[in-house]
Amino acid sequence: MIKFGPSGNSLSFYEEGHKHTFEAAAWLDGKKLNAFEYSFGRGVRINDDSAEVIKKEFLSHGIEISVHAPYFTNFANPDDEKIANSIRYVKEAVVAGHKMGGMRTVFHPASVGGADRKDAVKRTKETLLLLAEELSKLDFEYIVCPETMGKFNQIGTVEEVLDFCALDKSFYPCLDFGHINSYTLGSLKTADDYKRIVNLVADKLDDDRAREFHVHFSKIMYGQKGELKHLTFADDKYGPEFEPLAEIIVKYSLEPHVICESDGTMAEDALTMKKIYEKIKEGL
Ligand SMILES: [Zn+2]
Repeated sequence: MIKFGPSGNSLSFYEEGHKHTFEAAAWLDGKKLNAFEYSFGRGVRINDDSAEVIKKEFLSHGIEISVHAPYFTNFANPDDEKIANSIRYVKEAVVAGHKMGGMRTVFHPASVGGADRKDAVKRTKETLLLLAEELSKLDFEYIVCPETMGKFNQIGTVEEVLDFCALDKSFYPCLDFGHINSYTLGSLKTADDYKRIVNLVADKLDDDRAREFHVHFSKIMYGQKGELKHLTFADDKYGPEFEPLAEIIVKYSLEPHVICESDGTMAEDALTMKKIYEKIKEGL
């Protein structure tokens, strides 16, 4: 089933007097949204009691929870100790996500740093195999999602992320279309532009992953080196627009988990996407 929801809590959630993430389950349910991404961007810090309360609330409201691993992962780092840290950050996020009732963990693959891009990608592939091996020791089901990145000096083009996903069945791509649009300096305009990407996924990966991949969608300001800053759906300059992607999702009966990372209006903009999708679907 296709899912829509915010990354983190909208400003309106707090303005309405809510404080805690477990309250977001009923709040999102009331808006007919069915996904939520919890960010561990600055580190995995959640106690078991809080995780349990979140799990209970989100399960009872039928909201699929995913988590985002700490931002400082870099699987291209030449230092083995730093790689061990990146593996630990993702693993901690996967374990915490499981305790919160979630299945998916999104992570940032790597930075090019001072290395040659080809060498950095090769190093990333080698170390992601170590990540897959470490995670395979867990006694529960999980999905980890390497994300497409928005800056030129980051590793994570669509092609690179699909290559990473081909390494292990538990790797599902997180297609961040705002990032893709940023590193290609505004290439996402028509349904065909999105179709090309969706077809690449289908060419490279199995049917499950080609249908149920993870999506981050927000409008993002970009410059000479790619991504600059997350915007809201009020932007009409940078894009990308969701309508042409919704056409492709409907046309191929795709069921991605679509997470909105707008700046402050992520729940509202997630709902806008859901309505666009439903309108196109009803029009068939
Ligand atoms: Zn991310």
